[in-house]
Amino acid sequence: MISVEEALERILVQITALEEAQVPLSTSQGLVLAQDILAHDDIPPFANSAMDGFALRSQDTHPQNGVHPRLRVTGGVAAGYVADHSVEEGTAMRVMTGAPIPPGADSVIQIELTNYDGPESTWVEVQQEVAPHNNIRPAGEDMRTGQVIMQRGTEIGPWEIGVLATLGYAHVPVIRHPRVAILGTGDEVIDVDEPLRPGKIRNSNSYLLEAAVQRAGVAEAHRLGVAQDIVESLREKFRQAATYDLILTSGGVSVGDFDLVKDIMTEQGNINFWRINMRPGKPVAFGHIGGVPLLGLPGNPVSTAVTFELFGRPILRKMQGHTRLLKPQVPVVVEDGVDEQVMRRHYVRAHVEWRNDHFVAHTTGNQGSNIMTSLLQANAFVIVPEGGVTIQPGGIAKAMMLDWPEV
Ligand code: AMP
Ligand code: MG
Repeated sequence: MISVEEALERILVQITALEEAQVPLSTSQGLVLAQDILAHDDIPPFANSAMDGFALRSQDTHPQNGVHPRLRVTGGVAAGYVADHSVEEGTAMRVMTGAPIPPGADSVIQIELTNYDGPESTWVEVQQEVAPHNNIRPAGEDMRTGQVIMQRGTEIGPWEIGVLATLGYAHVPVIRHPRVAILGTGDEVIDVDEPLRPGKIRNSNSYLLEAAVQRAGVAEAHRLGVAQDIVESLREKFRQAATYDLILTSGGVSVGDFDLVKDIMTEQGNINFWRINMRPGKPVAFGHIGGVPLLGLPGNPVSTAVTFELFGRPILRKMQGHTRLLKPQVPVVVEDGVDEQVMRRHYVRAHVEWRNDHFVAHTTGNQGSNIMTSLLQANAFVIVPEGGVTIQPGGIAKAMMLDWPEV
């Protein structure tokens, strides 16, 4: 059995970022830039006024014999228009915020520092001397033509989208999102809308995984149903699944008579490993089917959930072009302790909160891999090292923080 770290390493060397695609700007959120983004224009594209006021020549604002100068107003410029004449000596033009500075003017005085006779005033009295460039936002002050504004590898969020919009990127070069096939296995597994019958349980894993995939960045999750515990059924499902970027299965990877996933992987592709020294989730298989990476997760829902977070999520993040793949681990005080002795690495579901200057963890009760309710309050896994270690109440351990961004 290999360690969690070795498993992760063996998986991630086999995974590469997907190809580049151009997507419409409004659908690019959460995706990763595949190219550096260059400014094709100066931003702002033209010198413009930062205030509502009057554009003028700064040298015309000096008081003469202690008297505020009065300038002739020759017109106005609203945002979205350009002046049809210049500002000459002794004159001014009304300008609105965002309006291009008329030629001849080197400064703008804000309206509050002037006297004038209403919106149609033909004169303005300047009550304060202004320096050149006052209230003028020069062309290219924010971004210059040719400058690299964002680097490839950047995750696109609302602010990046705003910048891309101002630069005129109607389409954005991104790493395309992964398409993921999700496959259940087992004769006992029925769908969520079916009534329970003797011996049957509902398919929680496929739905859990669909949602977990959707939470792991931009990705498409497709449930392909449940394969029966016969070779033909699995072969058929795997044929469908092999057109996706990643295949996630649950169940059928153990050593039982009907654990056929490994057999089909060997038959149609390869298996890199199928056991990891951890709990929950020892039977995790990784390999390929028809060139498509396949992560075979355990059948027990808690094991599925935990091993997806540990291995499935980093796979998706890497395919999406992210470079930070792993959740942060922080020291926590385990208030109730972990008294169960487990020889394998133990990932204990816990709720962690910040209290009195440190992180405090509370485990979520029965840690059996079939106890789904142990997932409900969990926002972290407390990591208990290999070798039958216990943690005393109040003892320190590391916790993997599931709600925090990858580091
Ligand atoms: P297996 O690895 O196939 O032996 O499955 C281990 C356990 O997980 C068994 O109790 C299965 O009934 C259960 N199981 C397998 N698949 C699912 C599923 N899709 N939803 C819920 N439980 C499952
Ligand atoms: Mg099974």
